[in-house]
Amino acid sequence: MEAEFDIGIIGGGPAGATAASYLAKAGLSVAVFESETFPREHVGESLVPATTPVLLEIGAMEAVEAAGFPKKYGAAWTSGEQRDIDHLGFRGLTHNFQAAEVLFSERDQPGVDRDYTFHVDRGKFDHILLKHAESLGAKVFQGVRVGKVDFGGEMPVLRVGLGSRSVGIPVRMVIDASGRRTHLGNQKKFKIPDPVFNQYAVHAWFDGFDRKALAVDKEQADYIFIHFLPVSDTWVWQIPITDTITSVGVVSQKQRFKEYNGDRETFFWDTVASRPELLEVLKNAEQVRPLKTEGDYSYGMKQITGDNFVLIGDAARFVDPIFSSGVSVALNSARIACQDIIAAAQAGDFSRSRFASYEKKLRRGVSNWHEFISIYYRLNILFTAFVQDDRYRLDVLKMLQGDVYDEDEPKALAAMREIVEAVENDPHHLWHPYLGDLKAPASAPSF
Ligand SMILES: Cc1cc2nc3c(=O)[nH]c(=O)nc-3n(C[C@H](O)[C@H](O)[C@H](O)COP(=O)(O)OP(=O)(O)OC[C@H]3O[C@@H](n4cnc5c(N)ncnc54)[C@H](O)[C@@H]3O)c2cc1C
Repeated sequence: MEAEFDIGIIGGGPAGATAASYLAKAGLSVAVFESETFPREHVGESLVPATTPVLLEIGAMEAVEAAGFPKKYGAAWTSGEQRDIDHLGFRGLTHNFQAAEVLFSERDQPGVDRDYTFHVDRGKFDHILLKHAESLGAKVFQGVRVGKVDFGGEMPVLRVGLGSRSVGIPVRMVIDASGRRTHLGNQKKFKIPDPVFNQYAVHAWFDGFDRKALAVDKEQADYIFIHFLPVSDTWVWQIPITDTITSVGVVSQKQRFKEYNGDRETFFWDTVASRPELLEVLKNAEQVRPLKTEGDYSYGMKQITGDNFVLIGDAARFVDPIFSSGVSVALNSARIACQDIIAAAQAGDFSRSRFASYEKKLRRGVSNWHEFISIYYRLNILFTAFVQDDRYRLDVLKMLQGDVYDEDEPKALAAMREIVEAVENDPHHLWHPYLGDLKAPASAPSF
């Protein structure tokens, strides 16, 4: 059997398009099969700076800059609650935990040549990346869904639907970049639901939302805002999409959503109403897209590589989106996997051991995210304290920039874990009442 392509990629989102760009640049023949026709809407609109080196390396940055997406210089958090914590002994704390913010320019980041990243309309952003892959020589088939992948023969065969016909496409190896559809993860029964997080999101776009209304520093109105609600493990994102359009999403535990019997409108507006000042701003804006829901989105995979295949992006792992990590993981997992894939192609050997370095680096990076997120949900007061403490601020910022692949464990993470354990074990600790309901495991799960 002759391979029709060196590499067949399932899915043309940011992970698939980035992998296709790296591989086409390296001279491999690549086919991307995307079931939808771009542009298509997608959740996940706020980038972190760790996307910059990848966009520069594949040569897509110019097109991304030219699209005029709002620039994201930092991130801010607000909370309606007044908490008196002056007595808790954190350094550099100038006010209570009502608000915190970080600016990316506070820390130099390897490979990042600008002090901003972007908030993006994913319809446009993903289309730019896919067209870029095509311009580098990747064959892109839109509106073509991949069915079962047959691994039984001498090389993998992708079953694709072409009109009413199903055609088999033999390739030397497969990349699964199918996002939360987790195509190969399902086929191979690799998927494990996250034991801690079962969050649910309801979101839409609003025109005329006053982005300055809740900002302490009005200059920061175009940051991403995370607004905490006085409801357990619940928060709202505020992401600029254009000068006037803002994406707003409510994230909460799925159990809470179930109590509304699937009524997303009532759930959304009731939840926002727990912060009356936020409700007021939202009511004065015009909703320009219907509310969409996203559920069941945290999971890992028993295996993310195998003979003749790797999983990248959301197809490999999904962690809660509180720190806007998803697109960065998609781009960086594609970058790291392609280093191994290009070497495998040169050696003419696509067996699993060739992808060991990818598996190790991705698991390390995503474990850091996962643990950071777990601690954040368990004791978010701690996160705000660390951000404002000069001993830890840059270490926390490093994670918020998406710089998570190069070391085993940032020191702030170890310090945070110690504090959480002390607070959990001492019912009289001043912070004990602030513990959230989602109990983080002692360390990140190994999947
Ligand atoms: C509530 C929520 C909020 C989020 N917020 C953020 C955020 O602010 N910032 C951030 O960076 N990330 C965020 N994310 C995560 C982000 O959406 C994802 O991490 C990102 O889209 C992953 O890119 P990907 O290329 O892996 O997958 P996707 O972007 O999902 O692309 C996968 C593609 O594969 C295609 N496909 C699937 N199955 C097949 C098949 N069988 N055949 C052919 N094609 C197929 C799909 O049509 C799709 O286009 C959020 C996620 C959620 C759920």
